[in-house]
This record gives sequence, C-alpha cells and structure tokens, in this order.
Amino acid sequence: MFENLSAQPKDKILALMAAYREDERDSKVDLGVGVYKDASGNTPVMRAVKAAEKRLVKEQSTKAYTGLAGDPAFSDAMIGLVLDGAVERDRIAAVATPGGTGAIRQALELIKLAAPGATVWLSDPTWPNHPSIIKYLGMKSKTYRYFDTETRNVDYVGMLTDLGAVLPGDVVLLHGCCHNPTGANLTKPQWKGVIDLLKEKSAVPFVDIAYQGFGDGLAEDGAATRLVASSFDNVLIAASCSKNFGVYRERTGILMSVTKDTAQRDLAQQNMSFLNRQNFSFPPDHGARVVTTILNDPELRADWEAELEEVRLGMLELRKQLAAELRRLSNSDRFDFLAEHRGMFSQLGTTPELVEKLRADHGIYMVGDSRMNIAGLNEKTIPVLAKAIIDAGI
Ligand code: PMP
Repeated sequence: MFENLSAQPKDKILALMAAYREDERDSKVDLGVGVYKDASGNTPVMRAVKAAEKRLVKEQSTKAYTGLAGDPAFSDAMIGLVLDGAVERDRIAAVATPGGTGAIRQALELIKLAAPGATVWLSDPTWPNHPSIIKYLGMKSKTYRYFDTETRNVDYVGMLTDLGAVLPGDVVLLHGCCHNPTGANLTKPQWKGVIDLLKEKSAVPFVDIAYQGFGDGLAEDGAATRLVASSFDNVLIAASCSKNFGVYRERTGILMSVTKDTAQRDLAQQNMSFLNRQNFSFPPDHGARVVTTILNDPELRADWEAELEEVRLGMLELRKQLAAELRRLSNSDRFDFLAEHRGMFSQLGTTPELVEKLRADHGIYMVGDSRMNIAGLNEKTIPVLAKAIIDAGI
C-alpha cells in the first residue's frame, strides 16, 4: 500500500529551521519560524499561564471528556475576548479546536457542507496553510491583490477591484489583524470599504485572527473583527490562542460562527460539533482551560494583559529601531514601512535570490518570500540585519 504514496512538498519554514540549526556561524540570525522570542531568543511560558497551570494541577479533579464543542466556559471567554459584545451571544455557535489551524480546517469543512460550490477568496499573499488546506479539501479558491511591493503597504485599490468579482455566497478570508506574512493592514476606513463591498456582493466573510494583542493592543486588534461580525448575518471567525497566550504546543483555538438567528445558530452548532466528532472527537482541553482560567480571573487577566503588552511594545520598539537604522544607512525613508507594519511579521518585498544572498553571505534566515519575524531580532542583531540589507542592495 505505502508504495503508492507520493512525496509531499517539504514545508519551507521547517526546512529553513533545519538549515539554521546546521549553520555554524555564531553571527547567524533566525527570522524564520513564526514564534515569539524575547531578547535572549527564548519563547517563555507567560507568567499567567504558569499560575493558571499551577492552579489546575491543584484543583482539577477529573480528566474525563469535555463536550464535543469543548468546555462552554472557554467559548464564552473567547467570544468575550474576540467579539466583546459586538454580536448577540445567542447568534454565535462555537467549538474549541486544536489551535487556530484546527479552527480554519473546521471552518472550511463547514463551508463545504453549507455551500459546496462556493469559492474561497484569499489575499495574495497569505499564510501558506490557507491555500494548502483548501487544495487538500478539493475546494475552489481565488486570490485578491493585497500587498503593493513598491509601497509595502496594502494595495487597497487592487484588493477592491479583485473582490469586485466575488459571487453571491462566496467566502472571503480576511486576516483580523497583523497580516501574515506582510505585516501590512487595512485602516479603519478601508475595513469599512471592504465590508460595504462584501455586503453588496452578498459574500460571507471569514476572519482569521491569530495575533490579537500583537499589533495595536487587545481591543484595537479585535476592532475589525467586531465590525465585520456586527455587519453581516453570517460570518466565520477562526481565533488562535497560540501566540497571544504563548500556548503554541497546547493546540488552543476556537471556531465561531455568527448566524442570523437562534435557529441558524442551533443548526451551525450541531454541524460544528459533528465535524469535531468526525475529525478528532473532543478538542484538546488543557490550553483551553488555562486560557479560560486567565480570562475569568481578574488578577491573572491583568497580569496576562500586562505581559502581552510588554511583548507588543517590545516588537514595536524593534520595528522602530530597525527602520531608524535603515533610514540612517540608506539615507532615505524607503524602509519606514517597517515601523508602520504591525504584528510579528514584515515582508521586505524583495526577491528569493536576495533572500538567499542574505542567508549565504550574512547568516540571516528569513522565509523565501522575504517575510521576517521581527521578534527574532534584538538590539545586537538590528545593525547586522540593516547593514546586510543595504549591502545586498535591497
Ligand atoms: N492563522 C495565521 C495567519 C497564522 O499565522 C497562524 C499561526 N502561524 C494560525 C492561523 C494558526 O496557528 P495555530 O494553529 O498554531 O494556532
């Protein structure tokens, strides 16, 4: 049987991580994989997560199965965090999932059940897992322009032009904040423009929000998702806790479906629980319970928000320092976009050849599409990267 298998394409980021590990240069800089790192290159367990885990160890009295949708208290807490009352609670169906990826997978399977002919529209570029899962599920997809490689900002006109071809019932995937890989985000008026167009087209928005709290703050980063959720009868929202709670390996995420009324909500809830059942039965609980404990305890929540804010401001400071150093070295403002981008990533907007040159000549590792993880930098490596960028002629 197994002889019939064909080789799968290698995951580019994992291959990059392996090459980085093998590089013997002391000066090497890892800007590849999408994991937050502090100034010493560690991905710490957040203080509130440690405290909540201690509490769970002491107080948890059973590891029996949760419901198929996970712990209802997790759904309530996450709906509060992401939507903050923007939509009536009885219009929202929710299931816990293995990470944000699990939520995306379940959302796509739900679309397959509800609208098998729908096309899923993706930003060009987007997180590579989006097209890869869509292809694996045999669904139709199209792309809309998103990034202007000249300005390194959102190509808003191109985006609206391409979304002009959306058909009624098509699904449009939008990054709720901190766009991955580009770091370029819609302004509030632009979000309104996209919402108006999608309403006119009778499209269904699907928001992927994986970095709430990494951009402009917890509330600010949730604002676009709330605006979308309150503007349509039907919206899908996939939220990840991996980054903002630092619980990557615990696989903690949630799929929310905003529906028209409670009857639709019940139907969506049933189908989402059914899909969990088919794919893995009960979703992982440990990370979800940690997140719930933090969100529902004022003291833990305040500490989590404070640490998340330190993380966010630290990345913002790195952005500012890198932009300033490049401004100094290039004697121009052409890299100022780095300070304007938000989240963990920025796309430099250069060629795979020059990305390879940065790796070969300077030991700087970034994804081939020139996405860099800003959190991989520190005060020592910023001048190294800036000089390498200028030396490479980017
Ligand atoms: N969406 C986007 C855009 C992401 O960048 C990520 C994380 N790389 C996810 C979803 C999901 O991450 P996870 O499955 O680790 O929660």
